[in-house]
Amino acid sequence: MLLTITTTHSPATELGYLLHKHPDRCQSFALSFGKAHIFYPEASREKCTAALLLDVDPVKLVRGGGTRLKQYVSDRPYVASSFLSVAIAQVLSTALGGRCKDLPELAQTPIPLVAKLSALPCRGGEEFLRQLFEPLGYSVSAEGHSLDEKFPDWGQSQYFSVELQHTLPLSHLLSHLYVLIPVLDDDKHYWVGDEEIEKLLRHGEGWLTTHPAREQITRRYLKRQQRLTRLALAQLIESDDPDVDSAEESHAKEEAAVEKPMSLNQQRMDAVIAALKQSNAKRVIDLGCGQGNLLKILLKDGFFEQITGVDVSYRALEVAQERLDRLRLTRNQWERVQLIQGALTYQDKRFSGYDAATVIEVIEHLDLPRLGAFERVLFEFAQPKTVLVTTPNIEYNIKFENLPAGKLRHQDHRFEWTRSQFQNWANQVAESFGYTVEFQPIGTEDPEVGSPTQMGVFKR
Ligand code: SAH
Repeated sequence: MLLTITTTHSPATELGYLLHKHPDRCQSFALSFGKAHIFYPEASREKCTAALLLDVDPVKLVRGGGTRLKQYVSDRPYVASSFLSVAIAQVLSTALGGRCKDLPELAQTPIPLVAKLSALPCRGGEEFLRQLFEPLGYSVSAEGHSLDEKFPDWGQSQYFSVELQHTLPLSHLLSHLYVLIPVLDDDKHYWVGDEEIEKLLRHGEGWLTTHPAREQITRRYLKRQQRLTRLALAQLIESDDPDVDSAEESHAKEEAAVEKPMSLNQQRMDAVIAALKQSNAKRVIDLGCGQGNLLKILLKDGFFEQITGVDVSYRALEVAQERLDRLRLTRNQWERVQLIQGALTYQDKRFSGYDAATVIEVIEHLDLPRLGAFERVLFEFAQPKTVLVTTPNIEYNIKFENLPAGKLRHQDHRFEWTRSQFQNWANQVAESFGYTVEFQPIGTEDPEVGSPTQMGVFKR
């Protein structure tokens, strides 16, 4: 797989500074899936070309699993795909970030650039390729390849040799390639979770919001996962379309309707506040704060000195903000609270320095394979003294008259746990990260199926 980038900016060899790779040398980098080599087939004052050759190790791909046939008949080593995006992010990270120690201004300056991709899979054909790059100002030329020259009847393949020409800062070109190559390929070689939204927004900054194909780009970039796409679009579009997250809101109402007859939410809040006070936690971070149910109560109570709400959903934070606005707080009260957008499966310095973290009805919204990442983010990196985690007790569901048998309480729940499942998880987390944990039922306890909500109180 070969990507070349050529400039006729003068002196053209300054491309070496921008890429942070010397034109006289061939450099190789080991990646988890193979090797990347960077070298310059030509480097004169007038014209300079840098080449990124990606050597994807097919044996490593096979070890990664997959179906039998796919393991051995794979186009991955030969075509531009998410492997190339990862290589750009790892090997050319400084250039991708628009930084250049020696020529900081040049890094921000539009220069004439031509990118060539030897084999780019375009699901959606040449038309879609043009729909992606032309609105960004590129001249696109694409040469299609037949499936097999000996059998013209088989028709065209999805592979194109592509040339993209534009005058723009190098970091913009790299960001466009980073995002749009996997979009064209309509695939990714790795698990796509919440942090992928953050990558998309970071590398799409300044161009994705106004791109006419932003919905398709977002959907394909996030491997067509509906929930992620919805969250990403809500953040991209920000407030110009308040309906984007209305589905999430109606689901929240659905859950509230199931639990309402017993005012479970109130009992949950009371239990959380009592546990926070017992731990003397004055600085509290509410992870997955949603529309601010708990934040409102914390803010009205003078005991709590610093209150932070975190959520991945921009729309939920907007609603939380509106609800807090309605409390008509004084300036002093306002200074105690902040809302931040973030993903709980992504290490984040902003989560550190609190007496307690609350994670109220959130873990069941995380994909099970991502739970391990969340555990590390909270218990290994943020390390609050106290952590309160609540989650539904699935055993209790048979007691809800308005919940059909076998259905979870909320459409977005990935799982709901029995008491022993929750306790096994919590005990193992406590042991791994040096915490103790005790359990508390929330809501009326049934002798057989327990309480509707279960809470784990972790202490360091
Ligand atoms: N704690 C609130 C909201 C619970 S609903 C309450 O008790 O009312 C679950 C919330 O978790 C939603 O607002 C959802 O946007 C958020 N969420 C889900 N996955 C997340 C993630 N990976 N990072 C941050 N927030 C997440």
